[in-house]
Amino acid sequence: MKGHVEINAMVSSRGLTTTQPLFSFGLISDVQYADIPDGRSFLGVPRYYRHSILVLQRAVKEWNTHQKHMFVINFGDIVDGFCPKDQSLGTVQKVVDEFEKFKGGPVYHMIGNHCLYNLPRSQLLPLLKIRSLDGRAYYDFSPVPEYRFVVLDAYDISAIGWPQDHPKTLEAMKILREKNPNENMNSPDNLVGPERRFVMFNGGLGKEQMEWLDGVLLDATILNQKVIVCCHLPLDTGAANLDTLLWNYDEVMNLIHRYNCVKACLAGHDHIGGYSIDSHGIHHRVFEAALECPPGTSAFGYIEVYDDRISLIGTDRLESTDMHFSPRS
Ligand SMILES: [Zn+2]
Repeated sequence: MKGHVEINAMVSSRGLTTTQPLFSFGLISDVQYADIPDGRSFLGVPRYYRHSILVLQRAVKEWNTHQKHMFVINFGDIVDGFCPKDQSLGTVQKVVDEFEKFKGGPVYHMIGNHCLYNLPRSQLLPLLKIRSLDGRAYYDFSPVPEYRFVVLDAYDISAIGWPQDHPKTLEAMKILREKNPNENMNSPDNLVGPERRFVMFNGGLGKEQMEWLDGVLLDATILNQKVIVCCHLPLDTGAANLDTLLWNYDEVMNLIHRYNCVKACLAGHDHIGGYSIDSHGIHHRVFEAALECPPGTSAFGYIEVYDDRISLIGTDRLESTDMHFSPRS
């Protein structure tokens, strides 16, 4: 791939365009490591809890070999909910340490439901180096002047991760009780279509985070930046199983659609992966999970970012995807 990059570095004969990426970054999702025997999901899909850290190790090795990635993004669920609770702290640290072996730059983490089954926000966020006030886990960063990354906190309003009497837990329980008739509210039984997302293992963005997102998108528009949104939970019905969507995905997308700056929304959580282009031309890519790779196989990749597209180059079970858009934001 090194030669490929160098050849592409040439400017066209007219000198108008270049196909050299502005930058690239590594990515992986749903490592969900635990030092426990292999198991199965609720639906019977095999899960390889011990193997998943080997997938991460291979990923870091590849990213380091490539040598050009500016950073890495972990799309959440770093440790599985079945991890024995007395091992949670050490296990999260162990996986974070593997990520830290990436030599090219920072690793940006986001929180998933499985992270929150293991540790409360107050312990989790410092381990993931998410600097925040009051347990908030959303942030943005701009690796080059032309691009801004927005990392959302999908469990801002959630029944997991906050203290039981926290206003956000109460707000989440109210939503769940209104929407989900099941005794076990992790079950989407009796829920139809996108309503299936109202389960306890999902969550939503609160008012304050929505206002923050609005402000970031406005600022990016003023600065003529293209935006890539990263969220543990998928944001489009075409890209994911309906029971994995963010509770207020519709509200978030309505806000995003008021601007032209967002070019792609990237997510994890739905282990099978998916891809769609929504009615406004925004790309939605959900990444295949590292956890569900049978021994010897992998799922990780990197994205090359250009002015008019992002190219996902996947390894093994993570499919490659070229996502084109108008270079004007
Ligand atoms: Zn998840």
